[in-house]
Amino acid sequence: MSSCIFCKIISKEIEGKIIYEDDQWLAFDDINPQAPVHVLIVPKEHIPTLNDLKENHRDIIGNMGVVINKITEIKNVREPGFRVVINCNPAGGQLVYHLHVHLLAGRQMHWPPG
Ligand code: 5GP
Ligand code: ZN
Repeated sequence: MSSCIFCKIISKEIEGKIIYEDDQWLAFDDINPQAPVHVLIVPKEHIPTLNDLKENHRDIIGNMGVVINKITEIKNVREPGFRVVINCNPAGGQLVYHLHVHLLAGRQMHWPPG
């Protein structure tokens, strides 16, 4: 999608600090980190929100956990731990309408989240 900032990072039209890439997923550092480690993990297909997932996305989403696992290894945050977050729509705090997983680590996380 031409106006989407994450699609532009995926196509390398704009720069991102890329951590991991395969044929389905790209991971890069968040531009405004909320923790010492803050990585965005995005499917290369432009899927706006979690609400837009369909049967044909099973393969991509099925690989998401494995991709997160690779990135926690690369970032060395498996111990003492980390948090993953997906925001959906305005009440969920979503600002960029290209599905993405936040990986947050490097400090103590709190509950309930803000
Ligand atoms: P959301 O609120 O949609 O779940 O999160 C969007 C995230 O994208 C925010 O954490 C924000 O800092 C990040 N972000 C927005 N624009 C850019 C950008 O151009 N580059 C990078 N690396 N991150 C961005
Ligand atoms: Zn997009």
